[in-house]
Amino acid sequence: MSNPPPASPGQGPNRRPPLAGGPGNNMRSPRFWLPLLVILGLNILVANVFFPPSQPRTVTIPYNVFLSQIDGGNVASITSTGSLITGVFHHPSGASARSRKTALHFQTELPTFAGGGLEALLQAHHVTVNAQPPNPPRPLLLELLFSFGPALLLVAGFIWIMNRSAAASGGGGLLRLGRSQARLYDPERPGTTFADVAGIEEAKDELEEIVDFLRQPQRYERLGGTVPKGVLLVGLPGTGKTLLARAVAGEAKVPFFSMSASEFIEMIVGVGASRVRDLFTKARAAAPAIIFIDELDAIGRSRAAGATLGGHDEREQTLNQILTEMDGFDSREGVIVLAATNRADVLDAALLRPGRFDRRVMVQPPDRVGRAAILRIHTREVPLDPSLDLNAVAAQTPGLVGAELRNLVNEAALLAARRDRTAVTMEDFSDALEKVLLGTARRIVLSEADRERTAYHESGHALLGLLVPDADPVRKVSIVPRGRALGVTVQSPVDDRQNYPETYLRGRITGALGGRAAESLVYGVVTTGAENDLLHVTQIAREMVIRWGMSPEVGPLNYSDDPQAGSPILAQRPFSEATAELIDREVKRIVEECLDEAHRLLLEHRDQLEALTRALLREDSLEEDAILQVTGIPRRPGVVERPRSRAAAGERSPAPADAAAPAPAPPPVPAP
Ligand code: ADP
Ligand code: MG
Ligand code: ZN
Repeated sequence: MSNPPPASPGQGPNRRPPLAGGPGNNMRSPRFWLPLLVILGLNILVANVFFPPSQPRTVTIPYNVFLSQIDGGNVASITSTGSLITGVFHHPSGASARSRKTALHFQTELPTFAGGGLEALLQAHHVTVNAQPPNPPRPLLLELLFSFGPALLLVAGFIWIMNRSAAASGGGGLLRLGRSQARLYDPERPGTTFADVAGIEEAKDELEEIVDFLRQPQRYERLGGTVPKGVLLVGLPGTGKTLLARAVAGEAKVPFFSMSASEFIEMIVGVGASRVRDLFTKARAAAPAIIFIDELDAIGRSRAAGATLGGHDEREQTLNQILTEMDGFDSREGVIVLAATNRADVLDAALLRPGRFDRRVMVQPPDRVGRAAILRIHTREVPLDPSLDLNAVAAQTPGLVGAELRNLVNEAALLAARRDRTAVTMEDFSDALEKVLLGTARRIVLSEADRERTAYHESGHALLGLLVPDADPVRKVSIVPRGRALGVTVQSPVDDRQNYPETYLRGRITGALGGRAAESLVYGVVTTGAENDLLHVTQIAREMVIRWGMSPEVGPLNYSDDPQAGSPILAQRPFSEATAELIDREVKRIVEECLDEAHRLLLEHRDQLEALTRALLREDSLEEDAILQVTGIPRRPGVVERPRSRAAAGERSPAPADAAAPAPAPPPVPAP
C-alpha cells in the first residue's frame, strides 16, 4: 500500500540564500573595505611571488671572465651595487667561451681582494659605469604596504572575527558592526494575490481581516480594537501556507519579510537571535509590513518535550528572541507576524500565548471543488484539449494537496510534450496521475514463479476489495513492478471521506491481509511479500484500539492524545502496564479476526480468485471495468464516479532487505 507520495513542499521564492544581498550601502562598513584590503594584500603577495618584476635574461660570469670581456671590448656598461656588478655586453656572451647559455646581460661578484686596476681597465675600454640604478626604487605607497601589509592583514582579520562574535552575542560589537546583517532581510513585494490561491477558502476568509487591517490601520485604531499580532498557519506540507502568506502581503501591498526558521539551526550560535532582532527592526521601520516565519516548529518545539538531548542553545535563543520581539511591539504599529507549521501540536506553549501566535488558521487539504479550482489556476498557462474536464481530474485526486496538484499538471504537460501534442489531454492526466501516485514503472523481469505469486497476491487484495462490505471501490490492479512494489491494487473512495466507520476500518484490514491470505491458500506457505501490508494492518488496528475506542475491552478511551508520545526519551505511556497488555491483546484479536475473514472469503470465492489471477497474468494490469467483468461481481450501488487515488490495499515488497524504506500509509484520520 502506498499513499500519494508526500507533497514536495516547494518553498516559494521567498526563500533566499542567507548570504545573498546587494552591495553594502555604507562605505564605512567593514563589509565594504575588508574584502578590498584582503584582496589588495593577496594581490601584492601573488604579484611578488609568482610574477617577479620582469628581468632580462642574465648570465652569471666569473670575475676573471668579466675582466677578459672588458679586455676584449665586449662590455658596454656596468652598474655596481655593493659587491654585485651587473652589466650589458655588446654581443651576447656566456660564462666561458664554450658555454651554451649566452645573454646580453650579465652579473658577477666583485671579490673583496680585487685590486684597484678595474677602474683604469674600464676607462681604457670606454665602458659606461653606473648608467642606471639596478632597480628603480619602489613607490612609497608600495614600500609602506610591504612593511605594514602583513600587520594590517592580521588586524583586519582580528576585527572581522570580533565583528562576527559581536553580531552573535547581539551587542553593537566592536565598531558597531552587527547591524550589517540586517540587509539579509530585504523585503519583497509579492505580486501574489488571493486569486492565486484556491481550495482553502476558510483560511482565506480568516486572513481577509488581516489584509484589511494592513490596508487601513487607522480604521481599527479609531475603535481601539486589537488585531492579532501573530497568526499561525497550520497545515500539511504543500497545502499552500507559504503561498497564502505571500498573498496576504500582495493583497495588502505591504512589504513581506520572510525567514525560514530552520535556517537558524545551522548557524553559528547566537546569530539566529541577532537576525531575528534585525528582522523585526527592519519590519517595524517599514510598517505596515508582514513578517513570515516558515517552519516555525524547527525552533518553536516545546522545550519541555526535550526532543533533543543536550543543549540546543541556538534554537532556544532564537525562540526567546522571537518571543521578546513579539512582546515588544503593539499590533497597532502595523506589523503582523505570520508563521507556518505542519505540527502545531509540538509547539512550545509560550508561542501560543495571547499576544503572540494566539490566532490559528487551519489550512486543510482541498476538497473536490477546491482541487478543481487549484487545477484551473495551475493550468492558466497550459493549453488544454477541449475534451479535458478538470472537474473529472479533481474527482480522481482525493487527498492531493495544492503542491501535488501543481506537480500533476506539470507531469501531464511534460507527457503531452513528449507525445508531440499541441494540447494536454485526459490521457496525459491519467498517466501522470498514475506516475505521481504509484511511481514510474520499473523494467525488471520477474521469474514466472514470482509473477504468478504476485498475481495471486494482488488478486487477493482486489477480490477482497470487491467482497468486503463498505470497502473503497477497486480501481485498478497491476503486476507491473513500480518503485519498490512488485504489484499494486488501487482502491479509492468515492469522494473525500471525512469519517470512517468501524466496519470500513475492518474492511481495510481484511483487504490488506488479502494478499497474504491468497498466497497461503494457494501455496500453503507465506512469503516476505506481505511486509508492508502487515505494517499497515497493525497500525490501523492499534489506532482503532487506543485512539478510536473501537475495542470493547479497552473501552471508549483515547490514549493517543499525547503530544510527547513521539519523543522516545520521555515515552511515558499514559496507561498502566495491565492496559498495555490488554491493548496488545486487542490489536492482535482484531487482526486475527480479519485474517480469518479474509481466508473464509477467498476460499468461498476461489473460482473468482483464479479467474482474476489468470487475467492478470495475461494482461499485466486491469482497470475497474475489466476487474468487474472477469470476476462477475456487480458494481456497488452508488458507485458511479471513477475517482482514483490512495493506492490502497497492497503492494508486494520484493524482498525484506528492500522493503524497509517505504513509509506505510497513515491510517485514515476521522474528522474531529
Ligand atoms: P506549504 O507552504 O504549505 O508547504 P506552499 O505554499 O509552499 O505550501 O505550496 C507550494 C506550491 O504549491 C505553491 O507555490 C503553489 O504553486 C502550489 N499550491 C499549494 N497550495 C495551493 C493552493 N491552495 N492554491 C494554489 N496553488 C497552491
Ligand atoms: Mg511552505
Ligand atoms: Zn500486499
